[in-house]
Amino acid sequence: MHNNSSVGHATVIDGRAEAALLKGHVAHEVSRLCAQGITPSLAVVLVGEDPASHIYVRNKIRAVKAVGMHSISYRMPAHATQAELLALISSLNTDASVHGILVQLPLPAHMNRDVVTDAIAPAKDVDGFHIVNAGKLAVGREDGMIPCTAVGCRLLLRRVIPDMAGLHAVIIGCSNIVGRPTARLLLNEGCTVVMTHLQSRDVAAEARRADILIVAAGHAGLVRGEWIKPGAIVIDVGINRVEKQGHASIVGDVAFDEAARKAAAITPVPGGVGPMTIACLLWNTLCAAQGRGTGILPRI
Ligand code: NAD
Repeated sequence: MHNNSSVGHATVIDGRAEAALLKGHVAHEVSRLCAQGITPSLAVVLVGEDPASHIYVRNKIRAVKAVGMHSISYRMPAHATQAELLALISSLNTDASVHGILVQLPLPAHMNRDVVTDAIAPAKDVDGFHIVNAGKLAVGREDGMIPCTAVGCRLLLRRVIPDMAGLHAVIIGCSNIVGRPTARLLLNEGCTVVMTHLQSRDVAAEARRADILIVAAGHAGLVRGEWIKPGAIVIDVGINRVEKQGHASIVGDVAFDEAARKAAAITPVPGGVGPMTIACLLWNTLCAAQGRGTGILPRI
């Protein structure tokens, strides 16, 4: 990547630059679709008053509009019933002018996340959380909607190592949002994939074998320099807010400076995976409007 810089021995992977390239590609495709009378559109549903969710939704809507897509937001009070939310999703499912539907998580405690997620039409499920989309990916198919962060991690990796076949990939953290779908994509790339989690006996020992290390645990500074195999590619998905001398800052799950001395390439936090997640939401929405899965690679 032309914009990458170096720290220690490692190339710092510029997620902002890569996200800008992807957004540019999406904007170009959106203008082509608009010329054919189709304006890709994303419905964003927010239930309740969670302040972080409000910020995420605002940023997503801003990004959607910036590439020329249409965005409609629906806000429901925290006391809305699950039936009311399902009725809204049902009407969005049948509205042909809506191509993507995103229900911002977390939902209020009285709602069942799985029931709500599975109510979204799979072809409009731009988060890729519907059981049909998760199932497709689980059996190696990429013709469904794939979770945005996983798509973003793979695009960053592809830029650094176009051919990952045979490499040893270790994933730390296996949530359905990040770790599991990323593991499936790397398996599709031909990697040997090891998934680790809180119950794993020796995560550090597994990490030391990794040519590709994906960290998505939500634990600031979990991965130390001595966990990194020399020459590894490290993708830090973690977003952790920490207080240092009265200042709040965002850090990843990897002790960046230590890891950068051992790795060949590493993503920073912020400026690594985060911008790619938003860009891939736009990519997923474009693919939904084009009626295709999100596993195909954008030509960027
Ligand atoms: P989660 O809490 O749903 O899952 C965390 C996973 O990590 C679990 O599988 C857990 O077993 C594992 N884990 C936790 N501590 C561990 C440890 N000490 N050793 C080994 N495994 C451990 O979290 P999530 O939703 O997958 O998010 C993970 C992190 O990624 C969070 O910091 C989150 O904010 C961040 N995130 C970033 C983006 C982005 O765009 N950059 C997107 C989604 C999530």
